[in-house]
Amino acid sequence: MNSSDQPITALSDAPVLNFEDAVRFFQNITPDGKCFACGTDKWEIPFFGAGLQRCVLIPTGMSQGGKSTYSLNLVCTHCGLSRTHDVGTILSWVEKNPAEKPGGVEQ
Ligand SMILES: [Zn+2]
Repeated sequence: MNSSDQPITALSDAPVLNFEDAVRFFQNITPDGKCFACGTDKWEIPFFGAGLQRCVLIPTGMSQGGKSTYSLNLVCTHCGLSRTHDVGTILSWVEKNPAEKPGGVEQ
């Protein structure tokens, strides 16, 4: 396979995790997600892009079922502790719990 004529983008098999979906995951699965070090609940989810924002995913260097695995690192905005979540776990939750109204504002 000749890869020289392909645009160089993010790693080609990297999954896509929308920022909004990640927020929904953490609100539902870790609603009381306090920092283990300082006790606050202020976490920053790294993302990029304008409009439809995507989470920054870190390759773990390992693979599962032939596909590379990724992690999402949240950083406590108070003490800087980072916690790591498996992206595959988040994505399978998102798949089972799709956003009811993409872009909707109802709460
Ligand atoms: Zn902290």
